[in-house]
Amino acid sequence: MNTFNNAIESLKPSASIKYIEKAKIMKMNGENVIGLSGGDPDFPTPKKICDAAYDGMVNKHDTHYTLGAGIPEFREKIAKKLREENHINCTKDNILVTPGGKIAIYTAVRSLLNPGDEVLCPEPNWVSYEPIISASYGVPVSLGLSYEDNYRISEKLLEDATTEKTRLIIINYPCNPTGKILHEDEALELVSYLKKHPDVLILSDEIYEKVIFDGNKHISLASFSEIADQVITINGFSKCAAMTGWRLGYACASETVLKHMIQLWQHMMTCTSGFIQDGGMTALDCHEEMAEMCRIYQQRRDAFIDRLNEIPCVTCEKPEGTFYAWVKFNIPNMSSYEICDYLLDNAKVSGVPGDAYGKGGANCMRFSFANSMEDLMEAADRIKKALEKLN
Ligand code: PMP
Repeated sequence: MNTFNNAIESLKPSASIKYIEKAKIMKMNGENVIGLSGGDPDFPTPKKICDAAYDGMVNKHDTHYTLGAGIPEFREKIAKKLREENHINCTKDNILVTPGGKIAIYTAVRSLLNPGDEVLCPEPNWVSYEPIISASYGVPVSLGLSYEDNYRISEKLLEDATTEKTRLIIINYPCNPTGKILHEDEALELVSYLKKHPDVLILSDEIYEKVIFDGNKHISLASFSEIADQVITINGFSKCAAMTGWRLGYACASETVLKHMIQLWQHMMTCTSGFIQDGGMTALDCHEEMAEMCRIYQQRRDAFIDRLNEIPCVTCEKPEGTFYAWVKFNIPNMSSYEICDYLLDNAKVSGVPGDAYGKGGANCMRFSFANSMEDLMEAADRIKKALEKLN
């Protein structure tokens, strides 16, 4: 039996998962590793969210299939949140509730692309977009944004990469891995491009929307009414509400796009667990809890990055959002993979090599600061000591 699906066989393995697992195995073997590779908040899920799910499971008996697109009250509440907080003009009929953001992205990409359709992917970007596109028989077209230009996106960059096969663009703000947020002027560039290309859709992954610092405001692309129908907004609870293990997310799209997605959905996932959606209902009200986590991330960001910047061959800008430090190393003759391996072996600190995130990631590494302050300080000190040995 050796006939496998070619598109799947050629997918690159996820570098973050590789390094998370490597660090875990080292820990299991008794090594004192500080794992900063993963993107999993170290906070527990707020208790009232757990209580709501328990109540849903035990008292409301939400343990059966729900309606495919989600419990109507939950879809209604998500739509209200998107109208009020994100200024997206939508109703529950624009919402598909999913077990996590990743499957929402997959459902959108898989249901929109025909084989050979091109998807513009500004890079550095999250490790799963391009495999999802390839698995859907699409063609990822990587657009390298430049470190020197602060990874700014522009209409010209998109225009230069556009062909008659361009069908979709995938953006992600706040951005994993760079921590960059979408600024108004860049949003306007995207709007201008989309107005000129009404057949091109854009998937806006906003999963880190509430992990945003220094009083900055998150901008949802679908809030621009002229192009709102071209936008598929993806969001979820994993990162902002510390609910990675719950598997809960959603997509918001025009009714036409959503109809296509649901056509695939009903044969793929059926629905999302009812009691998990009950937890999500309460999570939508946890503004203070989410703001508190964000406040703590900001303290860690400041301390960790200040400490890293004391290292002579390191430069690290403070991210505007997410819980990732995107660190640039000035170490001649070492690729980001080599630096990552070196630090894991010598400093016992795990990160992810920048090159895993595509163009624009050379000489960089991503470290998660969704970890205790104590571990972060210790990690920065160990990185410093290990790099001193290189000189
Ligand atoms: N988008 C981005 C940018 C992410 O970093 C992640 C998780 N690492 C996801 C989507 C998917 O998150 P989940 O499936 O847990 O909702």
